[in-house]
Amino acid sequence: MEFRPPFCPNTDCKQHLNPGIRFWIFFGFFKPSSRPERVQRFRCKTCRITFSKPTFCLDYWDQRPELNQRLFENLVSGVGYRQTARTVHAAVSSLQYKARKLAAHAGLLHHNLSPRLPADRTFLLDEEETYEQASIRTLTMPVLMEREHWFVVATDVGTTRRLAASGSKRREWQEREELESGPRPDQSRECVTTVLKELDRRLDGAKLTLQTDLKGSYATIASEVFGDRVTHETTSGKLPRTTFNPLFPINTTLAMTRDNLGRLRRKSWLVTKKREWLQSHMNLFLAYRNYVRVRFNRDKDGESPAVKLKLLDRNLTVAEALGWRQDWGPRSIHPLSADGRRFIGTPVTASA
Ligand SMILES: [Zn+2]
Repeated sequence: MEFRPPFCPNTDCKQHLNPGIRFWIFFGFFKPSSRPERVQRFRCKTCRITFSKPTFCLDYWDQRPELNQRLFENLVSGVGYRQTARTVHAAVSSLQYKARKLAAHAGLLHHNLSPRLPADRTFLLDEEETYEQASIRTLTMPVLMEREHWFVVATDVGTTRRLAASGSKRREWQEREELESGPRPDQSRECVTTVLKELDRRLDGAKLTLQTDLKGSYATIASEVFGDRVTHETTSGKLPRTTFNPLFPINTTLAMTRDNLGRLRRKSWLVTKKREWLQSHMNLFLAYRNYVRVRFNRDKDGESPAVKLKLLDRNLTVAEALGWRQDWGPRSIHPLSADGRRFIGTPVTASA
């Protein structure tokens, strides 16, 4: 079906929240330099601004929109910016700029598609250690996921302070660095709190089970966030990391992030230069892992974690995940809507 504007993109216009039937008129065509075909333009009868289908799309204003999908796929397949730049003939800086835009979008997409999670489920939490720039500048990245379907609920990134044995070369290096810039803050506690609050927001007061290793702070933070709604189960991190280990799903998911995100590999050139970009990159991983990729390779139905949890009718393709803009909250067009008539906040209908 031909695209017809579902609402006025001007958030100050009354046709944004309550669009009337035919609130727009056809208003000629234009030919963007980055696209092969001419584009239909519309004008809002109320506020008189003009817009077109690309106004509702993520790649609106993009110089090379055709690169978005390839960049997304490379960034969740362990390929770095430089290699991608070589293969697609683009500047590294423009790919980094694009990636930040894609990551911000992926964060909104995840936010919009998972407003609620089912009650009485089991969640797993663990922290991955990595670093920024130099190995002494350690980072922690808590990852929180649902146990049965491996849906990654939230991640965060913060600094940690891990001092080497006193007298060692590494410790001397750390001391020189701390003399210059002061002690490295330990943000582990606040990052863990952030991810648990992200889960709490989606549970709407429901009960849950949380499984972690024996780190002492987890019990305190969990009861601060969830009160008596949480059953906290712990497993020693020293148990063999087999499929029988209760922490197997989170151990494997962390291994998957190291495989899919070049920057998390040990001794890699791609290592994180700034921690903010690690969090951005994790947004891309979440969008891919939860909504695009099949839950397990052995799953015959090929369903993603989000489909298993009934957050989506079917898996998204990468093109769908990067299709409609998601910055209008529940007013954003649903990624599975081909004609733009179904919103994030509208219940699923057969015709949508
Ligand atoms: Zn308007």
